Amino acid sequence: MTPPPPSLSPREVEYLQCLAQGDTIQEIARSWHYEESGARSIGERIRKKLGAKTNTQAVFIACQLKILEPNRRHGDHAGYAAHKYRGEEPCDLCKAGEREYRNVRRGTRKDTAA
Ligand SMILES: [Zn+2]
Repeated sequence: MTPPPPSLSPREVEYLQCLAQGDTIQEIARSWHYEESGARSIGERIRKKLGAKTNTQAVFIACQLKILEPNRRHGDHAGYAAHKYRGEEPCDLCKAGEREYRNVRRGTRKDTAA
């Protein structure tokens, strides 16, 4: 029997996504308005849940467990829809993309009406 995959909070998954994109702990802390120690402790919690020794290994394990999906799109309407489909809270990147998408659509409708 395979043990159930460790459950990470959306924030923890986002943290791994940031790491996978090459963000440093300092960059994550800055963009989330966290203390660097706070950002580090999230990493620690994730490593413990995944049984990883390093953040690099945590990202790798998360990919293997499909917690992270390298090919998944983020930052546009499709990414936003994918979050919704999975019952997730869309990430900030996708929220911004969706806002833009809706603005464009609203613009289009206005054009048609005129
Ligand atoms: Zn997203």
